[in-house]
Amino acid sequence: MSNELPKPGAKLKIKKLIDPEVVLHPTISKWRNELVFDPLLYKSLGETQIAPIVFRQLGEKVELLAGSRRYFHQKLRGVSFDDLHKDVRENVSDRDALLLAASENIFREDFSPWEEARVINDLLSVGKMKVKDVAEHLGKSQAYVTSRRALLALPAKVQARFEKKSIAIGYAVPVKKLTKFPEAQKDLLEKIVEGGYSGIKTIEAADTYVTNLLDSVKEHEALLKAYGPCIAPGCGSKDIVLSRWGDGNRLSCNKCGHEWHKDTKEPWKFFELKQEAQKQGFNVEVNAEDFIMTPKDVVEMQERKERMEREKTEEETQQWAEKFRSPILIEEIVIPMLPGNVQKVVVDGNRIEIELIESSELYFKGLKKDYKAGEKGRIEVTYGGDKQVTSEKVHKIIDEITSASSS
Ligand SMILES: [Zn+2]
Repeated sequence: MSNELPKPGAKLKIKKLIDPEVVLHPTISKWRNELVFDPLLYKSLGETQIAPIVFRQLGEKVELLAGSRRYFHQKLRGVSFDDLHKDVRENVSDRDALLLAASENIFREDFSPWEEARVINDLLSVGKMKVKDVAEHLGKSQAYVTSRRALLALPAKVQARFEKKSIAIGYAVPVKKLTKFPEAQKDLLEKIVEGGYSGIKTIEAADTYVTNLLDSVKEHEALLKAYGPCIAPGCGSKDIVLSRWGDGNRLSCNKCGHEWHKDTKEPWKFFELKQEAQKQGFNVEVNAEDFIMTPKDVVEMQERKERMEREKTEEETQQWAEKFRSPILIEEIVIPMLPGNVQKVVVDGNRIEIELIESSELYFKGLKKDYKAGEKGRIEVTYGGDKQVTSEKVHKIIDEITSASSS
């Protein structure tokens, strides 16, 4: 018996300790993270060793199948091979050797999920067993077997995170599905760790999250393949969506909000105005690169449209104009800046929002209230975060923008 014992937790020198007649199994010997000195085990083996160490006869040698910790601690105690409490089995097939070692090891409390994962993975790959059979043999569910195997398929960094944050192993299956998207995978792990109100609390929820994400990725990829990324200057975002409403020709960018016609690539508002113009008899030339309607054309068109409306319901229109906090129609403010300057137009029920390209700080928010019911409608203009912008200031800014873009 050596009096130079390793420090607790120190790695055991296997090559020095092993008996000449003993060989290690190439697969089974890799299941354990590493063999380290355990003073408690060392002490208990001095008193008694209840379970035998299991070997199989392999020609002249014996191969260690189960009880490697006990074996090497006994060797450390100076016990000879002949004096070991052991069970040497004859005629054990390769597959049975794996199964035997697995059953011996997997129910030990000190076996980590990662060690279990290696056992299960080897039974499936080296042992060529089916998930169903492994589950039956180990007395576990098939989902248990699948989730253990999924652990090993995760990138090393993610595996480390599972261990460090004690994430439930069942999450390995949904997390693994995002291996192609490391950023999204990291995000999902954070949501799982976070738990609580905004995080992910169940494996089912994680699975739904992943399924939805992958569906949306597929959808985006199909759109990109057909139409390319966002065409707004300097954007190029891949996060584009095809509108489910209307004629299905409108693409919009979730990043910058730009909307355009999927085939002609015209800004959507232009496309709509152009159609309106054609309805009213304007001769509009269509060219995806160069939309030739001049600002004057658009103003004329809009004036004509308004005149027609005014003639139709003059009295009501008069009443409407009076009740506006600002008598200026939102269209009137924006149209002089067309074309080429509208970044985003949202018409949602009675709400209108307009963002400009050339002066992104100037932002219009209009409300199309039901003027028949006598409610006030209003236009809100913000400039660089300032909400107290007078209409004079707005007109001054607009003049600056339009003179700059026409010069
Ligand atoms: Zn964009």
